[in-house]
Amino acid sequence: MSYTEAMTQPLTVKCKLKVPINFRQFVDETLNSFADACNQILAVAKAENCWNTTKLHHKVYKPTKESTGLKANHVCQAIRRVINNAKAVKQIHKFRPTSISLDARTFEYKEVTQQVGVTLKSGRVKFDLSIGGYQIGLLKGQKPTSATLSKTRKGDYYINIVVEIPEQPKGKTPKVIGVDLGLRDIASTSTGKSWDGSQLRKTRDRYVRTRASIQSKRTKGAKRLLKRLSGREKRFQKWINHNISKQLVKEAEQLNTNIAFEDLTGIRLRTKRRATSARFPRQRNARVRKKTRTEINRWAFYQLRMFTQYKAQIAGINVILVDPRYTSQTCSRCHHIHPVPGKSYREGKVFKCGNCGFEHDSDINGALNIAQLGGVFVSHPESSVYACDLKGQLSLFPSGMV
Ligand SMILES: [Zn+2]
Repeated sequence: MSYTEAMTQPLTVKCKLKVPINFRQFVDETLNSFADACNQILAVAKAENCWNTTKLHHKVYKPTKESTGLKANHVCQAIRRVINNAKAVKQIHKFRPTSISLDARTFEYKEVTQQVGVTLKSGRVKFDLSIGGYQIGLLKGQKPTSATLSKTRKGDYYINIVVEIPEQPKGKTPKVIGVDLGLRDIASTSTGKSWDGSQLRKTRDRYVRTRASIQSKRTKGAKRLLKRLSGREKRFQKWINHNISKQLVKEAEQLNTNIAFEDLTGIRLRTKRRATSARFPRQRNARVRKKTRTEINRWAFYQLRMFTQYKAQIAGINVILVDPRYTSQTCSRCHHIHPVPGKSYREGKVFKCGNCGFEHDSDINGALNIAQLGGVFVSHPESSVYACDLKGQLSLFPSGMV
């Protein structure tokens, strides 16, 4: 159960090309030669009944390149065009000089200047694109490697650029990214990503220690300092959580999935803490009060969830809460839990199942369990024992906390 492969779909962006008058003959010359090449290749393919790219390449590459004067990659694209249209071209008598297929070697999109570089028979030329916001938006950040340059009957030039865009969520998707929350790694996902919490933990410990010592002084100045300190700590926390939530939602968007968190509120938080106390590092400093720290952690997780939730809502992604009990102890492959009470297959960072032998990062194993529980909820929403949908509950939480 892993969704490491981003799902994208190819989309053709049609762009008008500004071809100066004195350049038109070079474009036309290339279009003509490309059509000639296709016709020569088609003739050989038909005569020898050869419709295999590699075999046809051996037969036609050299003579076609010599007779047309095209660049190597133009000829390769001509062979491809004949093969790709094999069914249609068996009936066609002739290719017309209306378009040429371009690849990474013969075409380049330059975002900064909104230009394309195109290799013609005569060499490399740069053309300006005549496009609007819609096309610019689709091309943004893209490194397209395939395009088709064409000429209309009226004599206008266009370039159709192929881009890969993330698949848009189409209604309900059964797929779920599970997010495991912890101290060592703030968040780990069922897709194998994790965000290291060491920096946050160190900073937080320092704040908590300082706060404890200030609190013991109980003076007016100390109070003011305390307030300022908590502001800085909050801002740091907020920054981290904004980053993580942004990346989580981005991934869910790209993979077209829901996001599932453990429900760490109320009674379930206590269960979770008891069940996984091994993952919470021991307090070394006696002045770091356990209660304060737990409150901060709970608050941090809550904030991360809220940030994720509102970003997800904008992106049209569902956030699901699942019961956190046993998510860290259960084998995500065979669903076994250690039979001896108080013992776990989990040892720190490593989860090793005694039943099926499955070995994995313990946090990611937890995230996989959360993803599975979330998946159960998505496909059987009536099974609210395991999870609950957060949709529409955003307003229930006090806005001052986010
Ligand atoms: Zn197992």
